[in-house]
Amino acid sequence: MTANCDYPPWQQPSHPQLVRVHRTPGQFASYATSLVSLPAGSVFSPITNHFFIKQRTWPSVEAANGMHIDLNSDLFYVNHSCAPSLEYDVNKMEVRVSRDRDLHRGDLLTFFYPSTEWHMVQPFECTCKERGCLGMIMGASELGKGALKKYWLNTHIEKRLESQAEGKMEYSNGQGGRRNVDSVDQSVMV
Ligand SMILES: [Zn+2]
Repeated sequence: MTANCDYPPWQQPSHPQLVRVHRTPGQFASYATSLVSLPAGSVFSPITNHFFIKQRTWPSVEAANGMHIDLNSDLFYVNHSCAPSLEYDVNKMEVRVSRDRDLHRGDLLTFFYPSTEWHMVQPFECTCKERGCLGMIMGASELGKGALKKYWLNTHIEKRLESQAEGKMEYSNGQGGRRNVDSVDQSVMV
C-alpha cells in the first residue's frame, strides 16, 4: 500500500530474491514486481518482520477484527488490483500466488485490499484497468458480499460478511472508515 516515498523505516531490500521495488515520486506511485516465477497457489513469501497494531492506518493490513499489521517490509509496496497476482493470508501469515494463475518474473505484484480490510482509512478509485474492476475500492463492509463473491477473502472478512448478510452486523459503522475498536469479535481473533 504505497502513498509516501519517504515511508520505509526497514532495511531495503527486505526480499531481494523475490521483490523488486520501483520507487516513483508522487503519492501512490511506487509499486513492486516479481523477481521469480511460481505456480498458482504456491507460497510466495511468509509474512515476517511485521508488528501488530491496534489502530488501522493507511498502509496497515488487517489481521483480525481489532488487530492490524504494519508489514514493515517491501511487501508494503504490493498495491491493490481487482485481478491480483498475490493473496495475503493473515491466518497463515503467508503471501501466496493467486490460485487462479501462475506468477511470472516481471509481473506486477498486487493483492486485493478488501480481502483483508473490513474498512479502509482511504477509499480510492482503482486504476488497475482489469476486466471487472470494482472502481471505487473500499473496505469489504462497504462493498458487500455480492461484489466480493468471486474473490478469495481472509476468514475474518468471510465471517463478518456472513454476519452482515444475516443482519447481525450493520452495513457500515458510519465513521468514515474508522471502526470501533471496542467492539472486537473474539471469535475471529487469531
Ligand atoms: Zn480495479
